[in-house]
Amino acid sequence: MSNIDTEHSQEFEYKAEMKQLLHLIVHSLYTHPEVFLRELISNASDALNKVRFQQLTDRNILNPDVPLRINIALDAEEQTFSITDSGVGMTKSDLIDRIGTVASSGTLEFFQRLKTENKPFDGNLIGEFGIGFYSVFMVTDKVTIQTRHADPDSIGYQWESTGEGKFTIEEIPLEERGTKIFFKLKDDAKDFSDDDRVKGVIKKYSNFADFPIYVGGEEVNTISALWHKNKNEITEEERTEFYKFISNDYNPPLGHLHLSIEGRVNFKALIFFPDTPPLNYFRVEDLRSLHLYSSRIFIQDDCKELLPEYLHFVSGVVDTEDLPLNVSREVTQSSPVMAKIKDVITGRILSLLEDWAENESEKYEKFFKNFGLLFKTGAGSDFANRDRLINLLRFESSKAEKGKFTSLKEYVDGMPEDQTEIYYLSGDNRDAVERNPSLEYFRKKDIEVLFFVDAADVFNIPHLHEYDGKPLKSIEKADIDFKPDEDSPNDTLSEDDIKSLISFFNEQLGDKVEDVVASKRLVDSAATLVVGASGMDRQMERMMKMMGGQIGESKKILEINPTHPLIKNLAQLHRSKSDEAILKSCALQLYEGALLIDGNMETPTDFVARMTDIMEQATR
Ligand code: ADP
Repeated sequence: MSNIDTEHSQEFEYKAEMKQLLHLIVHSLYTHPEVFLRELISNASDALNKVRFQQLTDRNILNPDVPLRINIALDAEEQTFSITDSGVGMTKSDLIDRIGTVASSGTLEFFQRLKTENKPFDGNLIGEFGIGFYSVFMVTDKVTIQTRHADPDSIGYQWESTGEGKFTIEEIPLEERGTKIFFKLKDDAKDFSDDDRVKGVIKKYSNFADFPIYVGGEEVNTISALWHKNKNEITEEERTEFYKFISNDYNPPLGHLHLSIEGRVNFKALIFFPDTPPLNYFRVEDLRSLHLYSSRIFIQDDCKELLPEYLHFVSGVVDTEDLPLNVSREVTQSSPVMAKIKDVITGRILSLLEDWAENESEKYEKFFKNFGLLFKTGAGSDFANRDRLINLLRFESSKAEKGKFTSLKEYVDGMPEDQTEIYYLSGDNRDAVERNPSLEYFRKKDIEVLFFVDAADVFNIPHLHEYDGKPLKSIEKADIDFKPDEDSPNDTLSEDDIKSLISFFNEQLGDKVEDVVASKRLVDSAATLVVGASGMDRQMERMMKMMGGQIGESKKILEINPTHPLIKNLAQLHRSKSDEAILKSCALQLYEGALLIDGNMETPTDFVARMTDIMEQATR
């Protein structure tokens, strides 16, 4: 960041990416411009929470007696808007690092895409992307912030920006701690200088804010600590509004849990399951999860200790009397009270999911589709609830249409009596596994195969040795219990022909393969590669490599199909003219073709050159 000093103020330039993002925000049309108000109130409320927390932890702060509140002042004539909070305020470096810099590269890309697709911007998105403050540029061209940090020896600053490329910071005298943000509204947003309009928006978005909000001297928000009410005293509408308020989601939730627990541990909780994942659901760290309160006082945002990571997609509040008010982060991390609360909440969430799975399968499928990727990791990490979690897993399967799921229980219930193993096939996606030649035998015999098509499935395999006493087995492994095919027992090569063709293939391929064997699994394909009984599942191997693991490439077994016309031709040719060059080419070509299907071919050049040769001979 470059900066230029003048006599009074310092000028800073936004980083290039930030400039682009701001340009998009400033020059767009919005469907929900009123969201700026929610974002400013939420920032003010965070700042007030921080100061209250400092007060509780006995820290010396500036103006300890100033009430914690938010004031909004409007002037319809002048078209101006101002919001003042008595919160923690900002230092100069906060103004530069927190206000002056935002947004991950993903955010910019997302906004650019909306722009190229010519879609109007939904103001709600701005809040979701954690660039809340800049939503003011939906309604104004120039913003001023005056702020003084709560440290007694802090000084006041004024920050100004038109959102175009630069911002300025100058020192100003300020008596009180906190932050005032003010601006003149654009003409098309002048309704936000009207008291009633602003009060309406606050009731809609910020009714549950923890601090009183005054507009024109009148307190607007009235409802608080909804979770302390009795379940039947809360209307669905209230609950939904509360969810929207704490989660920044604009869809109603998929479901909720309202807990009031007394006994070994005491707490109240209101927990919501989002209907759809937030747009910025790239990483678990971005999820907001549960807020911790102690006797109605906000303690901690996004408290990771209240839930295992695989449940961090829920949002809500937990309020307990069992923790002291001045509890520090260190205490919440190691407190036995927290551990007990976590156990109870985890159990209740799993019970609710079990109930959906049993009685509301569509709802459960929707949940699983949206949050399965994270949720599934629980089966490998939460040993105390392992069995419940395994029963809640859902998989795609060769007998379910794409996008539909089956459970391990359903799989086992549908197994014919003589089947002793649970079969699965892993791959990058449904289409890739559907094309895998290993499936041919199972299709023909009408045996169901589970499809493990996402990363979490692959990581769960090592934890899922068996279900209901039946081992899980990859159909890419060599040691599958194939039943002989009664339909076409004669349509195959003689033992001798197979043996000599196999030893020829072995000579040609040498170190490339662990072995060459006659296949019982292939129906339509001529050859495929499988993993030895002790080898690592192919998808697993790829994942390990992607994660930078040092694993030796395990050699594969090449299976050739003795009923395939090409293999028969080759056997015949080998019997009559074992030194034909085409035999050697075909052996290599079949091997490399199988590699190609696996996605493991490193250099296609030889493969293509050989194919050209073979075609030339075939057309001679
Ligand atoms: P987010 O709130 O998602 O972090 P914002 O762009 O809304 O993103 O705000 C950036 C940061 O600026 C906040 O995290 C906070 O540190 C600081 N900030 C914004 N408004 C205030 C305020 N009223 N008082 C103190 N700090 C604030």
